[in-house]
Amino acid sequence: MKNLTGVTLQTLLEKANIGVVIHNWDTKVVYANPVALKLLRLTHDQIIGKDAKDPQWRFIDEGNRPIQPENYPVSLVKRFKAPLNNEVLGVTDSKNEEPSWFMVNAYPELSNNLEESFLVVTFNDISEQKNLFSYSAIVDNAKDVIIVTEADSIDAPLSPRIVYVNKAFESLTGYSKEEVIGETPRILQGKDTDKGELAKIRKALSENQAINSTILNYSKSGHPYWLNMDIFPLTNKYGEVTHFAALERDVTSEKYYADQLESKNKGLKEIKANLEAIIREKTQELHDANKKLYHHAYYDELTDIPNRRYFIEQATKQFSRANREHCVTLTGLIDIDLFKQFNDNYGHAVGDKVLVAVSNTLSSFFRQEDAYGRYGGEEFAFCILITDDSKVMEICQRLKDKMSQAMVTLEDNTTLSITVSIGVSVANVDKVTLLEDELIKADKALYDAKSNGRNCVKMHNP
Ligand code: GH3
Ligand code: MG
Ligand code: MG
Repeated sequence: MKNLTGVTLQTLLEKANIGVVIHNWDTKVVYANPVALKLLRLTHDQIIGKDAKDPQWRFIDEGNRPIQPENYPVSLVKRFKAPLNNEVLGVTDSKNEEPSWFMVNAYPELSNNLEESFLVVTFNDISEQKNLFSYSAIVDNAKDVIIVTEADSIDAPLSPRIVYVNKAFESLTGYSKEEVIGETPRILQGKDTDKGELAKIRKALSENQAINSTILNYSKSGHPYWLNMDIFPLTNKYGEVTHFAALERDVTSEKYYADQLESKNKGLKEIKANLEAIIREKTQELHDANKKLYHHAYYDELTDIPNRRYFIEQATKQFSRANREHCVTLTGLIDIDLFKQFNDNYGHAVGDKVLVAVSNTLSSFFRQEDAYGRYGGEEFAFCILITDDSKVMEICQRLKDKMSQAMVTLEDNTTLSITVSIGVSVANVDKVTLLEDELIKADKALYDAKSNGRNCVKMHNP
């Protein structure tokens, strides 16, 4: 050993950052260094010469029970002539309610003559480390599962190593502490554990990031359960990540209900989509049926031109328009000449063909805004607006000529020529005119046309 004669014991004791009290064998204090005075909150005079029986000492044990003088560290060392190691005791004084906690070591400095021996006590303050309750007890007894692993080499096959699990871990997984300490949490994963989710966890941990994740784990007996876990890094006092702690909850039933709800929602969504498709289809069908009904109600079945009802509606509108726009109405009836003979000579079907041919000719003659239609049997009606009544006869003539272009060709290629008689009436808007009256007048004119040998136009003449 190196020669330490240059180091003075006195200076060492004064400078040491640990309380040192030296007693005579009769337990009277002969020396206390400055740290000891500070920790015991005593002055030099208050401590020198006091023995173990002095009432100023108030020592308590870890259960806050007062310690009797015969059990003070100095008394025990004296009685057994043996050192005392790492005893924890509390010191109270009358002023301070909160005890100070000390870690105490003591030993006898024996010489041949006991009277000349010393009792040396050293101690330091551990109040900060000593808590009122145990954190480890909380963690150990928590209902949530808690696992701590080492942080190094998380990617190695048997890593990270588990260094701690609590009781909740044991009861959930069926593994005992002894079985899993030193193992990797991977023993809890199985065939249906989501690989993508595991990769996410691994990535977060490799970057020392906290992560929340829900994955499927398996108990020792192979029973699967869903775990929601918060994993976070633990650092040492230098800020280095040394461990990862995981707080885990069994969410199997929540997960089950969430999945059920999702599949029900999916089913409902499908039903809704199906219903929507059915409704779309039915709406279309209804729309088509309505369209057919409308067509049926307003168009003649054989000739597909406006029927009598539709003609009357349209012609009535023509009359109000004529009043608004100060036009003249031209109302007429067209009757096929000797139509009965087509039926009689060639049959009803040919008669029908004649009606269709005449209707097609009418459709190509009249414009969109004109009212016209099949008025009944082989009789047709029209009502148009004209601005210049000097053109009336010219228009009617053109109509008659156009009608004579209607042709029906028979099977033997003979063509039937068709003629019509037309009776018309012109009404001036200055007077209140009714469609009904105009039709009566046109009918009279038609009668004239028939009497006049047919195939001609007659205007009603009051
Ligand atoms: P007129 O020149 O005097 O008008 O002689 P007409 O033969 O045309 O007149 P009439 O009123 O005697 O005959 C009309 C015929 O039209 C009577 C009826 O059987 C026939 N008819 C009515 N509607 C239809 C139909 O939809 N199809 C067929 N083929 N014939 C019809
Ligand atoms: Mg007729
Ligand atoms: Mg006729």
